[in-house]
Amino acid sequence: MREKKPSPSLAYVPSEADYFDLVHASRGCQACDLYKHATQTVFGEGPAPAKMMLVGEQPGDQEDKQGRPFVGPAGRILDAALAEADIPRDQVYLTNAVKHFKWEPRGKRRLHSKPNAVEIHACNGWLQAEVAVVKPTVIVCLGATASQVLLGRSFRLTQDRGKVLHGGAWAPHIVATYHPSALLRMMSDEEAYANARAQFEADLATAGKLVRFRARRSRLARSSRWVG
Ligand code: URA
Repeated sequence: MREKKPSPSLAYVPSEADYFDLVHASRGCQACDLYKHATQTVFGEGPAPAKMMLVGEQPGDQEDKQGRPFVGPAGRILDAALAEADIPRDQVYLTNAVKHFKWEPRGKRRLHSKPNAVEIHACNGWLQAEVAVVKPTVIVCLGATASQVLLGRSFRLTQDRGKVLHGGAWAPHIVATYHPSALLRMMSDEEAYANARAQFEADLATAGKLVRFRARRSRLARSSRWVG
């Protein structure tokens, strides 16, 4: 098998960096061309370390303008589903596989355009650096792009959505689910939307339960030790 070249963004990642060093360094990233047409780098946000990390695809129009992930329409769907799954948004780390908004003009609007494999690979160094400082127990992949970045190109959401999977070098566990934008696109079909929304919330709840279970287990292990 051919070895993958290191991600070009690794050249921008400072060594021994904490979260704030990463945010600062990411602002100057030119590892691919997407920075040229984006307003700013939209880095991940949330506590570091955090037990749960959620990874989307790339910032959208609102995120690009505000400089924060998941603050537009997809973010509102995500917020509601997190609340339903009893997961406080301010206790999870939220990020994207790609940190710049890729878009194409359509009249006065900027339409989302999918990042290609070169752009995704270019940005991967930031995701690796985020995982190193966040040290999540569970990573939730939102949609196919994030899922394939973390679980490999052959991963299919249709087959393995909602399952607790081995996270390899990324984290102990990965759960892959829908992207909230996919739910937005289903809204015209009430039944399809209601089903997908219920599955989305159930998948987030699965990840939440895993975090709580592991936290309980380590508390128990600590309290049953007779020293230390
Ligand atoms: N879609 C994403 O994947 N990420 C965001 O931050 C917003 C929309």
